[in-house]
Amino acid sequence: MDIVKFNLTTGAESLNFKPSPNGGETLVACTVVVGGQFGDEGKGRIIDYLAAKADIVVRFQGGNNAGHTVVNEMGTFKLHLVPSGIFYPNVMCLLGAGMAVDPSSLLEEVAGLQEARVNTDNMRIDRRAHIVWPYHRLLDGAGEQKGGLGTTRRGIGPAYGDKAAYRGIRIGDLLHPEFLRQRLEKVLPLKNHEMAFYGLQPLNLEELLREAAVWKEKLGKLIVDSVPIIQNAITAGKNILLEGQLGVMRDLDWGIYPYSTASSPTAGGACGGAGISPKWIKDVTGVVKAYTTSVGGGPFPTELSDADGERLRELGHEYGATTKRPRRCGWLDAVVVRYAASLNGFTGIAITKLDVLDSFERIGICTAYQIDGKTVTDIPDTVELGQVKPVYEEWKGWKKPTTEARKWKDLPKEAQAFLKRVEELVNVPIRYVSVGPRRENMITV
Ligand code: GDP
Repeated sequence: MDIVKFNLTTGAESLNFKPSPNGGETLVACTVVVGGQFGDEGKGRIIDYLAAKADIVVRFQGGNNAGHTVVNEMGTFKLHLVPSGIFYPNVMCLLGAGMAVDPSSLLEEVAGLQEARVNTDNMRIDRRAHIVWPYHRLLDGAGEQKGGLGTTRRGIGPAYGDKAAYRGIRIGDLLHPEFLRQRLEKVLPLKNHEMAFYGLQPLNLEELLREAAVWKEKLGKLIVDSVPIIQNAITAGKNILLEGQLGVMRDLDWGIYPYSTASSPTAGGACGGAGISPKWIKDVTGVVKAYTTSVGGGPFPTELSDADGERLRELGHEYGATTKRPRRCGWLDAVVVRYAASLNGFTGIAITKLDVLDSFERIGICTAYQIDGKTVTDIPDTVELGQVKPVYEEWKGWKKPTTEARKWKDLPKEAQAFLKRVEELVNVPIRYVSVGPRRENMITV
């Protein structure tokens, strides 16, 4: 990356990218990486791999309610808010405007990374990202106890709810203490009222403002306007990677509402959350696990409550990165992935965790659902999705380790046949096959 100039007193910054020889237009390569299932597909690992060629990684939505796990030579990291490009010191990592950021959690995460000697100097936060306040966390916890939707109790839903109801407070507001005070004076009585409904103690305005002053001191210089940064990068023909959290089935509109997240983890959401015009998106990579997992509530047609499900969980270490909750496991659901492919416009698929299937005798792929005696291949309404019966194809397992495979031809022929069938069902080419958690465990097709 070329010279980066930061004006630390105002938080304003300019990136002096050199324009590319042809003026930028044709060289720009914005790639969106999104989850093609219920989340936890291994996006962190794919972004860590792709970020080697990126100049900027922008996380465009969500908060610390899910984690991206990255394994590299520096260690094993569970990222919750920090973009997965952070392990490349030359890559700028932006927390985008579409995010909901808990500043205390961000500070903790950054401290953990620094302790592991990860350079976080190139991390920035768009001033428009919303703050997750302690009352959001408390209300999420109390609401979850009553509602039982399976939220992570990190306050993300309540924070996005306040954003939409004009009661949100943005990270850039930390830089304007008077305005911040006025906003909290208006918002806090309402929140305290809501907390009283759940029998929670009210929060104190002055204490919250003191906490906010600490956030300002520690994060203030990282708060930026990402628009000129991204526009400069686009003009200079730089590579931008847009990182989504969770997956299509947890999308606020297109997922299994109300068991969804509060933002849009799709390619469309990427443009909104990162502030990038759709015309710059050249590539949409869908990350798809070779089987399916889901954490939290809601319908999950291919869930296995038998020994195979248990084996997938144990072999795949399927326990939540944020909450450590055991994930529900089942066979690959091609209906879900096809839905993800059409909504996102996948240009390619990255299959992850193929190696987890290495020891299975037979492997299932769900190709359709049955409901009321009818076979359907579209995603029905959430209530109906909870009642469908999956229609499976059974594929012969390869019963050989794949972790050392580096080329398509190194894969056992049964594994190739399984992947070809997935490609055919979803009608999108497979570009990457991940056969282990480490950077080198990757096949580029
Ligand atoms: P994300 O939120 O989509 O990034 O998903 P997770 O954080 O749950 O990451 C998936 C988990 O699987 C992490 O622990 C990764 O290290 C691991 N992982 C990713 N790809 C592979 C793979 O191909 N094989 C194996 N065995 N593990 C993988």
